[in-house]
Amino acid sequence: MNYVERVLEELKRKNPNEPEFHQAATEILTGLAPVTARHPEYEKAALLERFVEPERVILFRVPWTDDNGCVHVNKGYRVQFNSAIGPYKGGLRFHPSVNLSIMKFLGLEQILKNSLTGLPIGGGKGGSDFDPKEKSDLEVMRFCQSFMTELYRHIGQDTDVPAGDIGVGGREIGYLFGQYKRIRDEHVGVLTGRGLSYGGSLVRTEATGYGLVYMAEEALACRGDSLAGKTAVISGSGNVAIYACEKAAALGAKVVAMYDSNGYVYDREGIKLDVVKRIKEVERGRIKEYAARVKGTEYHEGCKGIWTIPCDVALPCATQNEIDLESANALIRNGVKLVAEGANMPTTLDGIKAFQSAGVVFLPAKAANAGGVATSALEMAQSSGRMYWRFEEVDAKLKHIMVSIYHNMDNAAKEYGVAGDFVAGANIAGFMKVADAMMAHGIV
Ligand code: NDP
Repeated sequence: MNYVERVLEELKRKNPNEPEFHQAATEILTGLAPVTARHPEYEKAALLERFVEPERVILFRVPWTDDNGCVHVNKGYRVQFNSAIGPYKGGLRFHPSVNLSIMKFLGLEQILKNSLTGLPIGGGKGGSDFDPKEKSDLEVMRFCQSFMTELYRHIGQDTDVPAGDIGVGGREIGYLFGQYKRIRDEHVGVLTGRGLSYGGSLVRTEATGYGLVYMAEEALACRGDSLAGKTAVISGSGNVAIYACEKAAALGAKVVAMYDSNGYVYDREGIKLDVVKRIKEVERGRIKEYAARVKGTEYHEGCKGIWTIPCDVALPCATQNEIDLESANALIRNGVKLVAEGANMPTTLDGIKAFQSAGVVFLPAKAANAGGVATSALEMAQSSGRMYWRFEEVDAKLKHIMVSIYHNMDNAAKEYGVAGDFVAGANIAGFMKVADAMMAHGIV
C-alpha cells in the first residue's frame, strides 16, 4: 500500500459516515500520488495526514424564532481547515442537507481552490442546515443574527473571512455583516460578497459564473475553438448558473436549459435570462414559472433529464453529485465536448473517469469555479486599502486569474506525466504551494 492509499484508508476509518468527505479526499489524494512519490520528505513530515485533518471545527447551536413565535434550533458549522497560506476563506451554505461531511468536503476542496487563485488565502467552509426557502425576510434576519452571535468570536479580517454559497446571497450577507458590526463595533472586511454600499466589490456577484466561462473559453481557444455557436446546458438557476449563462451568451453560446431542485426548463431558442433573473433574483420563485411565461418552452419535473438534452458544453452549477455515470454517458453519447464544473464536486468519480476516457475536456470545480473566491480576495484587498476598483478593472483581473489557473493546472499535469488530466493538474498545482508553506512552518 503506498502513502496515499494508507492515508485514505486511515481517513475513512477515522471519519466514518462522511461519504462526501471521502469522495473529495479520494479525488484529491489520488491526483497527488505522483507528487508524494517525488517528495518522500512529505511522508516523513506526515504532511498528507495533517492536510486532511481540519485545523479546527466549530459546531454550534443556532436558535431562532419564526413569525408565529415558534422557536427553532438549527446546527451551525465553521470548518477552519488550513491557514498555511493565508486566513481561512470560504463560503457559508444554508441548506437542509448541510452536515459535517459536506462541510469538510467543501473545506478540503477550498484549500486547493484558494491556492490556485495565486492569492494569499487559506481554506475554510461553514453553514447551517437552515433552509432560507419560503422564509420571510424577518425570519432570515433573525436566523442570521443568531448565527453570527456565535460565529463572530471565531472570525476576523485577518483570521477567517466567510462569504456566500448555496442559500447565502446578498440578503443573508447583509444581515450577517450587520450583526457582526453591531457586536464588534468595527466596519472591516470580515465577510465578502458585501453590498456595494458597504464595502463590496464590483463583479463579485458575477464572478463565479463569469470566471467559469472565461476558463471554458480559454480551454476551447487552446484547441482552436470557441464558445461562439455552441449549445450549452447549465444546471441550477442560482448565482453561479445565472452569471455563467449571461457570460456564455455574451460569448455567442446558446444556453438551452436550466433547473432548480424541482425540475428543468428547455428552451430551444435560448434561455431568456431576463426572465430567469426576474423569477429567481426578484421574486424568489421557481424555474417552472419560466415555461408559463415564455411560449414554446418545456418544463419537466425532476432534474436528471437535463443531461439528456444534446449539447456541446455542459456547465453543472447547482450542487454536488448532480452528474452521475449514467448522466455522464448520456452527455457523451450526445457529443458533449467540454464540461466545466461551476458547482463544487457536481460530478461523481466514475462520471469524471467516463468524461476523461471519452476525450471530453473536463475542467474540475476547484479550478473552474475559483473566480468567486478570487474576486472575494480582490474585495479583501480593496477593503483593507479603503478603495474601490472599477468594474472593468476587477473583471480584467478575474479573467487574467482564470486564464492563469487554466495554464497552471495544464502545466502541472504535463510536468507530472498526466497531460490533459486537469483533475490531477489542479490538485497538484494547488497543493504544491500549500505543501511548501506547511513544510516551512514545521510540525504544526
Ligand atoms: P444558489 O443558492 O444561488 O443556487 C443554487 C442553485 O442550485 C439553485 O437553483 C438550487 O435550486 C439548485 N440546487 C441546490 N441544491 C440542489 C439539489 N440538491 N438538487 C438540485 N438543485 C439544487 O447557490 P450558488 O449558485 O451560489 O452555488 C451553486 C454551486 O456553486 C454550489 O455547489 C456552490 O458551492 C458553488 N460555488 C458557489 C460560489 C459562489 O460564489 N456563489 C463559488 C464557488 C462555488 P433550489 O433553489 O430549488 O434549491
